[in-house]
Amino acid sequence: LSPVDRLVELLRASRRVLIFTGAGISTGSGIPDFRGPQGTWKSRRPVYFQDFLSSEESRVEHWDYKMEFHERFRDARPNAAHRALVDLERLGRLEALVTQNIDGLHEAAGNSPEKIVELHGTNRWVVCLTCGARSDPEPHFVEFRKTGRCPTCACGGWLKSATVSFGQAMPEREMARAAEAAGRCDLAISIGSTLEVHPAASIPMLAAERGVPYAIVNQGPTAQDGCATVRVEGDAVEILPAVVGLVPPGSAR
Ligand SMILES: [Zn+2]
Repeated sequence: LSPVDRLVELLRASRRVLIFTGAGISTGSGIPDFRGPQGTWKSRRPVYFQDFLSSEESRVEHWDYKMEFHERFRDARPNAAHRALVDLERLGRLEALVTQNIDGLHEAAGNSPEKIVELHGTNRWVVCLTCGARSDPEPHFVEFRKTGRCPTCACGGWLKSATVSFGQAMPEREMARAAEAAGRCDLAISIGSTLEVHPAASIPMLAAERGVPYAIVNQGPTAQDGCATVRVEGDAVEILPAVVGLVPPGSAR
């Protein structure tokens, strides 16, 4: 069997699939891969969370950086790979869709929010670090562009994109949801991730360590290739629709 046929076979035998996605699933939607060869961190230094808390200069740097990519995130649309994962959910086979991505494209594609776990937060919201209020980013960018000053909440707290910054703790609830799904699934598939960023990349490994089949779909090698039951080389935008199209509906749960 070819790796693609093997993946189809694994999917047909599964009822509770854990999907784990990274930047590679969204490059086809025009979202840059922040850590890849052309990654923007090569040209800009990341703002660490501690610096955001302690320095106005760092807060300006954060907003300036987010503004640079704001329109690209705002205007990005899901691609065929995202839509294939919506089909997988409709087939009744999706346990959870755990993502490292902050683009919100899985929800935009139509996967249920209760299936999606965004481990690194989302650019679709701005959050107040004091009261936790969430708001639409757009008016804050308009204000920042006009005044050059960082937007603040009505409560006086600092506003920040609802993403997990370098040096910021992982969201506990999302990590727990992802780990629970890894403990329940009967198949894990990593898509478009080099699986190098921890603790996020530990999630599919929790499933693999339980002995459930583990498939990896990625362009180029990953840090977990040695643990994979099957490794499919290539672009998720081409592979996923073809694979999911061959999977019949799962049994009712
Ligand atoms: Zn507030």
